[in-house]
Amino acid sequence: MEKGKIATFQSLRDNVGQFDLRNKKCLLPQMNRIGVHLLAGTFESFGIDAIVMDTYRGLDLGKEFTSGKECFPCQVTTGDILHFVQKEKGRLGDQFDPRKYVYFMPEAEGPCRFGMYNKYQRIVLDTFPELRHMKIGSLTSQNSYSLEGMLEKEKTGAFRKAAYFSVVVADVLDRLLWRIRPYEKAAGMADEFIEKAMHAMIQAFKAYGADLKFDKILDELEAVIEEGKSIIDPSIPRKPRIGVVGEIYLRTHVESSQDIIRILERYGAEVVNASIAEWVNYTTYDRMREANIGLRFSLRQLRFNEVKSYLKKMLGYRLELFYQEMRQNQIYNKAADLIDLPSDHRVGHLEDVLAEDNLFSFDVGTEACLSIAGIIEYIREGYNGVVNVYPFTCMPSTITSAVIKPIMNRFKVPFLDAPYDGTYQPGRTAAIRTFMYQAQQHFKRNVQKS
Ligand code: SF4
Repeated sequence: MEKGKIATFQSLRDNVGQFDLRNKKCLLPQMNRIGVHLLAGTFESFGIDAIVMDTYRGLDLGKEFTSGKECFPCQVTTGDILHFVQKEKGRLGDQFDPRKYVYFMPEAEGPCRFGMYNKYQRIVLDTFPELRHMKIGSLTSQNSYSLEGMLEKEKTGAFRKAAYFSVVVADVLDRLLWRIRPYEKAAGMADEFIEKAMHAMIQAFKAYGADLKFDKILDELEAVIEEGKSIIDPSIPRKPRIGVVGEIYLRTHVESSQDIIRILERYGAEVVNASIAEWVNYTTYDRMREANIGLRFSLRQLRFNEVKSYLKKMLGYRLELFYQEMRQNQIYNKAADLIDLPSDHRVGHLEDVLAEDNLFSFDVGTEACLSIAGIIEYIREGYNGVVNVYPFTCMPSTITSAVIKPIMNRFKVPFLDAPYDGTYQPGRTAAIRTFMYQAQQHFKRNVQKS
């Protein structure tokens, strides 16, 4: 390799982290479409220029600059940033200045590989001499996605609150779409409506996000839900309910999952996907849990200075989780007054579910603990089938699949693993149709029983 192209650890230290976003363009990769757009609206309300990058258009570039061993979301997002740069350079020519951008790629700690995406992408960007000055802004689950250093100190608290609010509102909009689309009066109405609704909510976050005027945002949400409700054709009977769990990027990124929710709907399902807020709450819960373990350990060792510090951390995270769940309830309750949308699982409750039969432990971390417990909850709530959507070779989702299959057999609830890697599998549609046939049978049996 040419000497100038060799990446160094220095670059990982200097160019990946928390950087001041003021006077920069913040580049956001898409995961769930509505969520990222509402987040961009929130950034804008705090005076930060945020751009949601096109997605999946640069997959060829993503594949060119990865070896094939990386997780699929890493390939997709690598392609997204390279495609954006290519387009931006084409648009601006010599005026293109990489220093003006911060590419946003959060991370989570191990044991899985999400913590490595931004490091790997740094190495890729560094192979282009002109992109060495484009910083990668990273938030980490290690400190529950703290924003320190990215905004003025006095604004970070308000931004966290507004951003969290946008995450839950986006979850509710997604759930609204999945609730109305299988029952729409005419094909395409729900999609057209949700696009319009998303733009209305972006404007609401731009206008009221920074001032934390959540009541105004909820008024807008109420109007959106009222309009959405009118799309349902009441003569269409309820359909089998399918719960989706899995890896957060794949199950929420429509292109990567080849729009599996729509395909399930095509074969007769009403789908509910696990939420994004569940993951955000989980990171706070997990930090609180760690502080609790540290506290007990230092008490046993009589290390009183550490006791004080762990106690402070624990209380801080407990308060944060309390705030998050309070806001989440507020938004879901508002929606529930207007339409029957499924509520979200509480992370503390999910840990209790796992503990009942000693199925798995939160000590292992990753999404497996949320997915396994989430599936048990779907079964208890009477869902007619569950789909586990994940990137091919994803470690937590493979664990989920191994642990949950015997349980699904015991409960006689249909279950489908749906791994994706960007290729089209000829048997996939047949597998979904067979799964939906089983879900229909489960639905009929249970309707008859009740
Ligand atoms: S959750 Fe799965 S896809 Fe995501 S980083 Fe971990 S192993 Fe990779």
